[in-house]
Amino acid sequence: MFEKQIEIPSAEEILSEIPLSGELAAIKAERDALAKDVIAGRSDKLLVIVGPCSAHEAAPVLEYVRRLGRLNERVKDKLVLIPRIYTNKPRTKGVGYKGMFSQPDPENRENILKGIYAIRDLHIKAIGESGLSAADEMLYPENYAYVEDLLTYVAVGARSSENQLHRLVSSGIELPVGIKNPTGGSIPVTLNSVYAAQSPQVFKYHNWQVATNGNEYAHVVLRGRVDHYGNDIPNYHYETVMQVFEGYAKSEELKNPAIVIDSNHSNSKKQFRQQIRIVEEVLQNRLYDADFKRIVKGFMIESFLEEGNQKHDIVFGKSITDPCLGWADTERLILDIAEKA
Ligand code: PEP
Ligand code: MN
Repeated sequence: MFEKQIEIPSAEEILSEIPLSGELAAIKAERDALAKDVIAGRSDKLLVIVGPCSAHEAAPVLEYVRRLGRLNERVKDKLVLIPRIYTNKPRTKGVGYKGMFSQPDPENRENILKGIYAIRDLHIKAIGESGLSAADEMLYPENYAYVEDLLTYVAVGARSSENQLHRLVSSGIELPVGIKNPTGGSIPVTLNSVYAAQSPQVFKYHNWQVATNGNEYAHVVLRGRVDHYGNDIPNYHYETVMQVFEGYAKSEELKNPAIVIDSNHSNSKKQFRQQIRIVEEVLQNRLYDADFKRIVKGFMIESFLEEGNQKHDIVFGKSITDPCLGWADTERLILDIAEKA
């Protein structure tokens, strides 16, 4: 049984109702080129995808991105800062808060129509107020069409990375798409997904048979893994990163070998302050091995105005999903990455 609750207009209708202005579209286009240049090795800047685990409310996210926009002015010669504005949340057990897309008010029931308006409004305001276009997770590939004109980086989450539709839709996206290793940690599975996303594909998408050219900017994101007993096992260490390097090297077909290190999730065991140490270790390893340095293109860091997390939205700017670094630590860490980049 599927009870019809709210009819959702097509992406074309919503995009024409809430369009991105030409001025902001030009900012996004410029930033897309910066991010692609990093993945393709045309630039040796580092990508830093940074922000809260989930964007549950517009006001603190806008305050956060304004700070990031000011910080960007100090580091833009070395880094490409991309705010995480994640409006779709996968859940380990499939239940609970599913992001602004589903619940524009986290304390209230789902309203996906309001959610679509809310996330477009947030992404557009964020570009306008910070000059930075963002990253979001493509949790539901069909819904990518509602934000496709707004993002500079697209993530495919650990619970989605082996899914056929995620890989096929990724093949048509003309942006860096970071494909996380699945929660079980298989690197062959991750590289197969990158291969699928880099390949031209034909499939059904929004009532059309569509053809794509393949996305040469699809790449690996290492987020740590969970073993069969439920323990978090990191994969940011030198040895594990170099195994991914070898996997890329063995394949003649994969383009633009690239790895982004996610410093939270199973890499930190969600001990959010460990993100600082993890990033520092990776920066240190870059000094010792040119291959490592070449393949590690940046970091994904979970950070918000206030450190940690909370069950309900009581403290302004504190995560209601995974625990985050606070702003002061984040600013210090980003300045340090820029210095060592
Ligand atoms: C996330 O980035 O917040 C996330 C849910 O990551 P993962 O898919 O790696 O669990
Ligand atoms: Mn998270």
